Amino acid sequence: MDYQHLIEEVYQEVQEENLRGKVADYIPEIANVDPNKFGIALVDLKGNVFGAGDYKEQFSIQSISKVHTLTMVFKAFDTKLWSRVNVEPSGDPFNSIAQLEYEKGIPRNPFINAGALVITDALCSKFEKPIAQLTEFINEIAGDTCVKINPDVKNSEKNHGERNTALAYFLKSFKNFNNPIEEVLEVYFSQCAIAMSCVDLAKSFSFLANDGYSIFAERQILSESNARRINALMLTCGFYDEAGEFAFRVGLPGKSGVGGGVAAVMPHKFSIAVWSPELNEKGNSVKSIKALELLTNKLEFSLF
Ligand code: GLN
Repeated sequence: MDYQHLIEEVYQEVQEENLRGKVADYIPEIANVDPNKFGIALVDLKGNVFGAGDYKEQFSIQSISKVHTLTMVFKAFDTKLWSRVNVEPSGDPFNSIAQLEYEKGIPRNPFINAGALVITDALCSKFEKPIAQLTEFINEIAGDTCVKINPDVKNSEKNHGERNTALAYFLKSFKNFNNPIEEVLEVYFSQCAIAMSCVDLAKSFSFLANDGYSIFAERQILSESNARRINALMLTCGFYDEAGEFAFRVGLPGKSGVGGGVAAVMPHKFSIAVWSPELNEKGNSVKSIKALELLTNKLEFSLF
């Protein structure tokens, strides 16, 4: 398979369609990103990198970090984790509080904000320096890179953090929150503010395409079955209330972020990351989804 040719073809075709959306504007640091940025990086299981457009440029990974924190916490707590967070798609927006009341403080899944806050709370229980250990972990699985937390994005997230703060207090009222709220939110806003390029991101997802083994870290990150479980969660819950649409159009386990990034895996073949800041009304990148749709249409193989 000539991945370089394939990616360039997809890149061109998406550009020609001139699709538009709206850059997330809840904080200025994200709103001011050039809306025309567009990059694709594919990493095969030998570690070869194929790229097009702005694939080496760093952007705010936002909710894609929920996969990295879940991986660390899943490894640490194993099945015990699932007493605190469910594994069902929510069908609601990423920051919704609605279902949390009748679900008695157990979030529907780890990829909506309520679930991710529980995961970050668990991270804080298990790791002494959660932010440093998270970035260290990402650096390791992304092939010895140096990801940074953008302090302006983090502080802005904090200054506009009413909804996430409310979710954390609500979780605490159901006793599904163990650490001081401010401490956990600091970690949560930091993870959202991690900046990575498409290459770094695709590399960091490589173990999920490779039965839990990272060729970059040269170690088993998760057991084969637990890596499959994360993929199952990404397929069913990775795009909030658009998860069904993404599975229908693209058919890959993946995760989006409001920075416009999408990371996805084709198990046993490759991992891929796409970035374009303009989002649809569900908060997912218009061009990134289109690129992945075209790519999977052109591939000679599929997950199904
Ligand atoms: N920082 C955002 C939030 O927690 C991340 C949301 C996202 O990427 N979907 O609200």
